Amino acid sequence: MQLQPTASHFIDGAYVEDTAGTKIDIIYPATGAVIGTVHAATPAIIDQALNSAKAGQKVWAAMTARDRGRILSRAAAMIMERNHELSVLETYDTGKPYQETSVADATSGADALEYFGGLAATLTGEHIPLGEDWVYTVREPLGVCVGIGAWNYPTQIACWKGAPALACGNAMVFKPSETTPMCALKVAEILHEAGVPAGVYNVIQGMGEVGAALVTDPRVDKVSLTGSVPTGKKVYAAAASHMKHVTMELGGKSPLIVFEDADIENAIGGAINGNFYSSGQVCSNGTRVFVHKDIKETFLARLAERLQNAKLGDPLDESVNFGPMVSESQMNIVLGYIEQGKAGGARLICGGERLDMPGFFLAPTVFADVTDDMVIAREEIFGPVMAVLDFEDEAEVIARANDTQFGLSAGVFTKDLSRGHRVIGQLEAGSCFINSYNDAPVEAPFGGVKASGVGRENSKEAIQHYSQVKSVYVRMGDVEAAY
Ligand code: NAD
Repeated sequence: MQLQPTASHFIDGAYVEDTAGTKIDIIYPATGAVIGTVHAATPAIIDQALNSAKAGQKVWAAMTARDRGRILSRAAAMIMERNHELSVLETYDTGKPYQETSVADATSGADALEYFGGLAATLTGEHIPLGEDWVYTVREPLGVCVGIGAWNYPTQIACWKGAPALACGNAMVFKPSETTPMCALKVAEILHEAGVPAGVYNVIQGMGEVGAALVTDPRVDKVSLTGSVPTGKKVYAAAASHMKHVTMELGGKSPLIVFEDADIENAIGGAINGNFYSSGQVCSNGTRVFVHKDIKETFLARLAERLQNAKLGDPLDESVNFGPMVSESQMNIVLGYIEQGKAGGARLICGGERLDMPGFFLAPTVFADVTDDMVIAREEIFGPVMAVLDFEDEAEVIARANDTQFGLSAGVFTKDLSRGHRVIGQLEAGSCFINSYNDAPVEAPFGGVKASGVGRENSKEAIQHYSQVKSVYVRMGDVEAAY
């Protein structure tokens, strides 16, 4: 399989190269080997992408919504046909095991394209009668939308932003993370092959500076970022100073609460999914696992036993279910937190080290006896590090779960469904789970409250964030004026 992209950028329906841009090596996280190279967008490339988006948007918006929807649905079908190839690429881009990428990445991108493709023709305005006059509303696209991605789900993020944007009649310039530049180019290629007109979905590479240049450009109407809270604050402020629309999908330190009556195997399954899927590099992870003190030791013993079934190794081997960190620098950040956990007095139950093998592998790590003030309980680690905290009663655990700047997700495990709903109702989080963790179907709104974000992706909610309403007053009689 050829990994080196045809060219760095995809603009106006074609691959474009400009080697004057800073060289970015593409590193396979499972070996540390350089598997390709791209170049960051120069000012000329940024200009070309925005001009092509501006022109492409007019062509796209002039088509019927049904035709736009049909093209997006066709792209979804093409992604499903090429799922194997796209999943292998995702594995090379991120290091995530093929066992995951083959069911969670291109497939979830296809879900978004199919869902929003289906919605496109239903996006209508309303008629508001006012006696003999009336008002009608028109749902209009915003114009040119910029998508900026994180490195953990490069195909999914490119589709989750592109699908609703395009369904509403916008064009997009997407900048993937510099750590994972390959997958979005394939998404652009497929959209174009499916019939999306030139200029409607463009991909340009680069670091933060390229993102920053896009955010403040007057040709841009909306910015959707998936990234960390510090980046989100900068991007939100820059977009606000130009009065642009934003969606911010940012970080978290989400609580997962296990009550004493929970089905313990399911709760452990939820905690594993919510901490170790994608080697812990998931924004919505439930990394503060509050376990009722009566079942804490049983929970920890069984968790440690089940973690022995984590199989680390070559992510392309279908039996491997645990991959490396995305990069050496992310691995070192996580190792720093592991050291802080040890130094801070938390009890290491398992893991806690880098593995002696090529690539950026860390063992799944669990700390128990974690207290609310420890750094590993307060900061987003974005790696395979679970913090287990004890609690005694419902009111106490709700207050402690909410005592954070973040508010992305929250989960509750209990057999008492009244308690499940009561507790979830009081947790300050945007995406919640009862007796489950980290499900993200396209039908459900996804996003955070507090510092974790603004706006929602997926579901009908996303339409509000990629369109605006024009209202038109229609008078049937004469205009009365004072003079
Ligand atoms: P990051 O914030 O470092 O970078 C995100 C993107 O922003 C990259 O493409 C980067 O090049 C770009 N960027 C950086 N500075 C910029 C600037 N000043 N202007 C414009 N763009 C700029 O995040 P990351 O390390 O790539 O990803 C990990 C973070 O993303 C974690 O905090 C994680 O929780 C979060 N995340 C959130 C979600 C979600 O949906 N809520 C999903 C995945 C990841």
